[in-house]
Amino acid sequence: MAGTLYVVSTPIGNLEDLTYRAVRVLSEVDIVACEDTRHSQKLLNHYGLKTKTVSYHEHNERGRAEELLASIKSGLDVAIVSDAGTPGISDPGFLVVRTALDAGLRVVPIPGPTALVSALVVSGLPIDEFFFAGFLPARSGARRTRLADLAVIPSTLVFYEAPHRIVASLEDAREILGEREAVVARELTKLHEEILRGRLSELAALFYQAAHEPRGEMVVMIDRNVILSADEDTKSEYNVASIVAGFEAEGFDARSALKKSARQLGISRDEAYRRLTAERSRGKP
Ligand code: SAM
Repeated sequence: MAGTLYVVSTPIGNLEDLTYRAVRVLSEVDIVACEDTRHSQKLLNHYGLKTKTVSYHEHNERGRAEELLASIKSGLDVAIVSDAGTPGISDPGFLVVRTALDAGLRVVPIPGPTALVSALVVSGLPIDEFFFAGFLPARSGARRTRLADLAVIPSTLVFYEAPHRIVASLEDAREILGEREAVVARELTKLHEEILRGRLSELAALFYQAAHEPRGEMVVMIDRNVILSADEDTKSEYNVASIVAGFEAEGFDARSALKKSARQLGISRDEAYRRLTAERSRGKP
């Protein structure tokens, strides 16, 4: 009879955050497939687990998935773990799961930590709906294009970010999404855990001042587009002219103010221009 593939969440910093069930599964399976065996060995040692480990990572995941599949088909139980948190969440794991499912094998989740959920629940931002966008592109051009795509999503936006890019990403977000409330959750579950709240520009300035080299692991959360997510009554109070006027008051020229307003409203620039002209002819501000 074929074995089972377990997808096991492991701590994101604090070694105590491994569930009883995860400990049992990691001790009972035949193989623990690790993103990095040396890294996960520390966790296994902490719990006195002696299970055999093999490595899988993004560079060998496809080949390794076939090998793991063969092991499971032969009746062995396999657990996959990543360096931290939940496999597959901005980490390798997806291919192994997909391959096992395609082969008709049983795949069982062993729930536990993931940085984005831990960050969201203490953010104070609305979490009834959120959009997790993984890591933003490293290059500013691609990052800004991605942010422009995300600008119209009426949910809290969540990203993972590397410390050396935090200032540039917050500044690009401010530029593309407009000023919004945001939260950066840093070093969750670790000694220097810190939750920083403020507007995008304030947080960018804070990290810029922080010795120019912010440290640690970070989750960035940005409040939803308040215009798009407003109820219909509130929405009707917004007109293109007042949003354009807001941007012009911030110092943007008429062309940029219109472009930014269109983005905030989730409409094309042509549509924004048509509405602006109509509003002005009706005598709105
Ligand atoms: N699989 C992991 C999960 O379930 O959260 C994510 C792995 S991803 C390669 C690593 C990124 O997750 C970090 O760059 C950071 O953005 C975020 N992260 C991981 N641990 C964190 C922590 N303790 N505090 C804040 N962010 C963390």
